[in-house]
Amino acid sequence: KNPSRKILITGGAGFIGSQVVREFAKKYSEYHIYNLDALTYAGNLENLKDIEDASNYTFIKGDITRQDFIQNLFEKHRFDSVIHLAAESHVDRSITDPLAFVKTNVLGTVSLLNAARDIWEGAKADKRFYHVSTDEVYGTLGEEGLFTEETPYDPNSPYSASKASSDHFVRAYGETYGLPYVISNCSNNYGPYHFPEKLIPLFINNIINNKPLPVYGDGNYIRDWLFVKDHAVAIDLVFHKGRNGETYNIGGFNEWKNIDLVRLLCQKMDKKLGRPKGASEKLITFVKDRPGHDLRYAIDAGKINRELGWKPSVTFEEGLDITIDWYLENAAWLEHVTSGSYKTYYERMYRGR
Ligand code: NAD
Repeated sequence: KNPSRKILITGGAGFIGSQVVREFAKKYSEYHIYNLDALTYAGNLENLKDIEDASNYTFIKGDITRQDFIQNLFEKHRFDSVIHLAAESHVDRSITDPLAFVKTNVLGTVSLLNAARDIWEGAKADKRFYHVSTDEVYGTLGEEGLFTEETPYDPNSPYSASKASSDHFVRAYGETYGLPYVISNCSNNYGPYHFPEKLIPLFINNIINNKPLPVYGDGNYIRDWLFVKDHAVAIDLVFHKGRNGETYNIGGFNEWKNIDLVRLLCQKMDKKLGRPKGASEKLITFVKDRPGHDLRYAIDAGKINRELGWKPSVTFEEGLDITIDWYLENAAWLEHVTSGSYKTYYERMYRGR
């Protein structure tokens, strides 16, 4: 039976991408989901163990920056939509290696755009290029105000500059070639399967192992946090119901000062691990600030709420509890990721396929 849609999801072995692939493969048995991922250090097929044998799912190992390969792939499978999440995603890494971010986030996006433009030429109905992006493209806020879809772009890190650039390219392909597209810009995600270089999983891991918790500067930075499954639900809605050529901001209505978040995490971990009150907080260590560090991000998610009826389904406390429990129950996943041994999982899984 022919699938009703052939959707290419890029970066589907990553933190958010694996949630989206899982959500789509499970919910839409009439679609075929193709997951294209280069399996960089951040890509891990163990994230998708539960759906790897689903008949409506195919994994393709490949790099979005290889333009000929991408063009051939689109010609072979004739995807009718793309949900593009593949990216270099860690701000600290972008400070030490900006070019890697230009390559994947800008060049990779443009190579996907070219392929979509070429195979959809003259047949744009029901086609959609969806770019999953970040609120960091808007730069930083002072103590007041929120990012809206009209906030001018003002990126401060090589990561956010590369994502801003890829957003601009997506819009430019809409204007220049009539490519049907939609973009969403989301705040910080947290949840299961998060690579432990990012704050919440790093700190959970360090608390378990009694290692220092490095907090940048004075810890007064403010971020808005969203549970990753709620982001996946928002992506599903924007993909299916978002208006063509529009941007949707997605956020958790959930601002936290870094240091307060770390203290809350410490208190929860003390309880979960049966350690004396205050034990984990002793691990907090203030370290030299990140250069170009944005003071505050906060999202006005009113548009997606009004137009598509989306709002977060869990509170931060609930989401954090689910996340901590998941990391405690999945010590093997954490161990594989921190030791890098998940790399061999792919070889084992896909050898001979
Ligand atoms: P991640 O780093 O966990 O995953 C990225 C995935 O992309 C990995 O599986 C990696 O192997 C793959 N990838 C990297 N380079 C590739 C290439 N050249 N070709 C093919 N695949 C490649 O990232 P994430 O946190 O899941 O973020 C996914 C997307 O969502 C990114 O575009 C990011 O900018 C955006 N985003 C993330 C957040 C967040 O808080 N994590 C918030 C808003 C938006």
